[in-house]
Amino acid sequence: MLANIRIVLVQTFHPGNIGSAARAMKTMGLSDLTLVAPKAFPDPEAERLAAGALDLVQGARVVETLSDAVADCVRVVGASARLRSLPLPHYDEPDDMAADLVEDARSDKVALVFGRERYGLTNDEIGHCSHQVSIPTNPDYGILNLAQAVQVLAYEVRRAWRHHPGSDAPQRSPEDRQSTREQLGHFHDHLSRVMQGSGFLTQPHARTEKQLQALFARAEPTRKELSLLRGLLASLERQEPKQEP
Ligand code: SAH
Repeated sequence: MLANIRIVLVQTFHPGNIGSAARAMKTMGLSDLTLVAPKAFPDPEAERLAAGALDLVQGARVVETLSDAVADCVRVVGASARLRSLPLPHYDEPDDMAADLVEDARSDKVALVFGRERYGLTNDEIGHCSHQVSIPTNPDYGILNLAQAVQVLAYEVRRAWRHHPGSDAPQRSPEDRQSTREQLGHFHDHLSRVMQGSGFLTQPHARTEKQLQALFARAEPTRKELSLLRGLLASLERQEPKQEP
C-alpha cells in the first residue's frame, strides 16, 4: 500500500534536495519518486545526498508537467507553507491528511506534491491538486527546507500506516472507486464546453472554472457518479438551442 503513495517534486532547483528527499522517503518506506522538470537531473549531488536511497534516485520518473505526474491519482495533496486564495480543501493537521491518504492508497494511487525551493507551487499547479496541506510551524518563520518537508509528511504517512496497516486488497468495487485526476480533468473540459455552448460563459473564465474544480474536488465523486454527470452534460449538448419567441 505504501507503494501506491507517490512523492512528486516540482522543478527542484538543487539536485542535492532530490537526493535528500529520496533518503527521507526510503527511511519511511516510500519508493515512488516522480520529478517534474527538474533543473539538473541526473546529477552526482543528488546521488551523494541520497546515501542508501540511491535506488530511488536512479529509479525516479521524470515528467514534463504536474498533470502528467498525477493523472492516475485519486487524491493529490499539495504541500504549501502558505495558504492560497484557491478554495481547495485544506488540511491544517498533517496526521488527518496522512490518514485519508493511506486509506485511499489501499486501492488507488495517491500523491504528495512539493514545490520548488524559491517560490513553492504556482496557483496553476495547486489547481492540479485535490487538497492542500501545511505543516504547522513557527508563525514567524515557517518555511522548511524541501527535503525536510518531505521527511515530516513521509513520517506522518508512515505513522498513519503503522496504526492501520490493513490489507492491500482493493476494498471498493471499480464503480465506487474515486475518480482519477485525469477522469476529473476530462469532466471539467466537458463542463467548460457545455457552459460556453449554452451561453452561461461567453468566453473561458478561469476563476469560475477553478471554483467549480474546487467544488468537485470537495465532493470526491466516484467513477460512477462522474459518468452520471458526463451523461447529463452529453444530454444537454444534444438539446437544440432554445429559440427566442
Ligand atoms: N519559498 C517557497 C517555499 C519553498 S520550500 C514559498 O514561499 O512557497 C519548498 C517546498 O517545501 C514547498 O513548496 C512545500 O511543498 C514544502 N514546504 C516547506 N515548508 C512547508 C510547510 N510549513 N508546510 C508544508 N509544506 C512546506
